[in-house]
Amino acid sequence: MKKVNSHTDSLSSNISVSDIAGGIPYDKSTDEKYMKKALQQARKAAKIGEVPIGCVIVYEDKIIGRGYNRRKKDKNTLSHAELIAIRKASRVMGDWRLEGCTMYVTLEPCQMCAGAIVQARMDRVVIAAMSPKAGCAGSIINLLQMDEFNHRVEITTGVLEKDCSSFLSSFFVDLRKRLKTENESVETGVVLNNEAEECDMKGNNT
Ligand SMILES: [Zn+2]
Repeated sequence: MKKVNSHTDSLSSNISVSDIAGGIPYDKSTDEKYMKKALQQARKAAKIGEVPIGCVIVYEDKIIGRGYNRRKKDKNTLSHAELIAIRKASRVMGDWRLEGCTMYVTLEPCQMCAGAIVQARMDRVVIAAMSPKAGCAGSIINLLQMDEFNHRVEITTGVLEKDCSSFLSSFFVDLRKRLKTENESVETGVVLNNEAEECDMKGNNT
């Protein structure tokens, strides 16, 4: 059954604490608590000049995997926050299956990460900001809830959306300012614009 909750929707903001995923009751405050941890990870990415996207994976009310975007630093397209967190969580669980786990991520996952989330049999994904130009949890396509696949993931959106999207937007504003003052190459500017466009969120033109 497809299930998408949104904390920005007042009708569904009082999600019953009897709804259980990964052994933890999920209500708004629990989701916000862990999204703050994901945002902390995003700040680590910003510190090293990466597009600030952060992620944590929770099992039985404990964080078992953390990750932040390190694509440039690692020179590797696989270094997305979600994949790094999945690798760590699998190490803790001693299994490729992450059944009973919930992922908290500051930006809607891309096609690669959404695919990995389904492959890992994750129970639930909680998303802060949607990504209309690259997101694959409902924006472009919803890979997390395809009837054709053997596993579907529950989705909750809009958790700390403003905090996470304004952090991402301000990262690009600051970076552009720095590029102007440092007079960096046109090529760097083009790469930056592409990244900004890729991460462009609903209502946040960077
Ligand atoms: Zn990704």
